[in-house]
Amino acid sequence: MRLLLVEDDPMIGETVLDLLREDGYAVDWVRDGAMAETAALDQDYDLILLDLGLPRKDGLDVLRELRTRKCRSPILIASARDAVQQRIAGLDAGADDYIVKPYDLDELLARIRALIRRAAGRAESVYEHGNVRINTNTKEVTVENEPVTISAREWAVLEALLARPGLILSRAQIEEKLFAWKDEISSNAVEVYIHGLRKKLGADLIQTVRGMGYLIPKVKP
Ligand code: CA
Repeated sequence: MRLLLVEDDPMIGETVLDLLREDGYAVDWVRDGAMAETAALDQDYDLILLDLGLPRKDGLDVLRELRTRKCRSPILIASARDAVQQRIAGLDAGADDYIVKPYDLDELLARIRALIRRAAGRAESVYEHGNVRINTNTKEVTVENEPVTISAREWAVLEALLARPGLILSRAQIEEKLFAWKDEISSNAVEVYIHGLRKKLGADLIQTVRGMGYLIPKVKP
């Protein structure tokens, strides 16, 4: 999952950046509204965490511009406790949810997970296929009820595929979810992680669609 963090306060920015990375997200951090707009229109983020008080361009203006220009990423706005009118304006302008600053970091993570789930059209946080069970909230993965340890990057690949079961993702699309701007990408990284996942979860969960990419099958209702 690739997130855009828009925050001009360096202390909050660094704290949140570390937190999100520890939680396995690939994160790009920008510190003003103009940069936020450029980044969000350039890249298909799984979520944008948007501070409203920003230099160069106000967060609300950024939000309106993004929605006008058909940016569909879920947007979580962050605002000061007393800024009720600002939050209302934000929701009306197309924000999906808001969080009040200073926010609790666990609450922030939970809201991010909920918005990503909702964007994927999933109310459920558990995916089951054969004897594999994956909880995307707790990141617990079991095979025949035995816990399996998955590395952070393998998890990022798995999560990208789980976001839209039944939909094919190309290698480039998975790479985008995996790596933020400054990270290095080795050319066969995605294959390596998928190979690792298949060893742990069995060969039939992640399917190769020749010449197109990979998918995880839809759960039968
Ligand atoms: Ca600010």
